[in-house]
Amino acid sequence: MNTLLLGNTKEDIKTAAKFLKNGGVVAMPTETVYGLAADALNGDAVKKIFLAKRRPMDNPLIVHISEIEDIKRFNLVSDFPQKAKMLAEHFWPGPLTIIMNKSDIIPDEVSAGLSTVAIRLPSHEVARNLIKESGTVLAAPSANRSGSPSPTTAQHVLNDLSGDIEAVVDGGMCDVGLESTVITLATKTPRLLRPGLVTVEEIEAVIGKIDVDHAVLFKLKSDEKVASPGMKYKHYAPKAKVVLLNGESDKFISFVNDEYAKDSTVGVICYDEDVQSINAKAIPIGKADDLETQAHLLFYALRQVDELDSFTTVYAHCPIKTGVGMALYNRLIRAASFEVIDLE
Ligand code: AMP
Ligand code: MG
Repeated sequence: MNTLLLGNTKEDIKTAAKFLKNGGVVAMPTETVYGLAADALNGDAVKKIFLAKRRPMDNPLIVHISEIEDIKRFNLVSDFPQKAKMLAEHFWPGPLTIIMNKSDIIPDEVSAGLSTVAIRLPSHEVARNLIKESGTVLAAPSANRSGSPSPTTAQHVLNDLSGDIEAVVDGGMCDVGLESTVITLATKTPRLLRPGLVTVEEIEAVIGKIDVDHAVLFKLKSDEKVASPGMKYKHYAPKAKVVLLNGESDKFISFVNDEYAKDSTVGVICYDEDVQSINAKAIPIGKADDLETQAHLLFYALRQVDELDSFTTVYAHCPIKTGVGMALYNRLIRAASFEVIDLE
């Protein structure tokens, strides 16, 4: 298959929507990361997403809508709890995914056999226009090959999936840079399944106390049951080995400089302030206190690790576990296969 690289004019959106109406798969920009979209109400179309990504079939997809009313219009859920409505009104359009009990209209391919469905209303104009133009709602996981860092540019998508999908709609670099926050309201107490730019603290300000799933911050035991199947897979990893360093910047800098003196294939993902003191090749991801810029650049940096050089090991700061730091930690700890060195 020849993958078409589209811009985001009205004509381009029409072309992409036509592929989707015909049961094809198209990558689209969203404010979080690029998504690989198919008609969420067509099980055969959704199957093609799993094939293109080589995604395990037991990992469910997020359904993207273009306005809150789509939930009723397409009859997506069996009930729309009050707290879900409060979250939707407060955070949509935006990087929050809400899980609710599904209706029968949701194909098994989307929910991976679960009784629930994950729904999000993205804020990216191109995504919303494409959903509207396609006349349906779109199932869309991140548009990367399963396991690799999520794509934040159209080029990233092409690097992974060129030849396997109909088209990519280019909407520039994604603003947020990390996948959406995922919360389930299908449990008695709302439970965070994946952290993102919308933080626990912000959610609790709207609906009160929530639980944070164990798998957000801790490694799963081999026999542990997961609420969100995506959490059990190796994820976000470049080819080079990633190791997190826990400690102040001065200790971080002297540790990586020592390692680099022993082995020149060592690389570093670091804060802007550190770059000039580091002897190894350093990829900066923003100032130490600017977590939103770090989120914006993290996956870009993880992909640069593979593109720039043949690094064997790449060291990165271990982020704090609160606020947006929780999302950075959740992604980096998986990229690092949970390997952290304590420098204190
Ligand atoms: P991705 O779109 O690649 O970011 O993946 C979607 C994430 O949402 C994965 O981690 C899924 O496991 C999770 N997810 C989607 N639908 C559900 C659901 N019904 N219940 C629990 N987790 C879900
Ligand atoms: Mg993904």
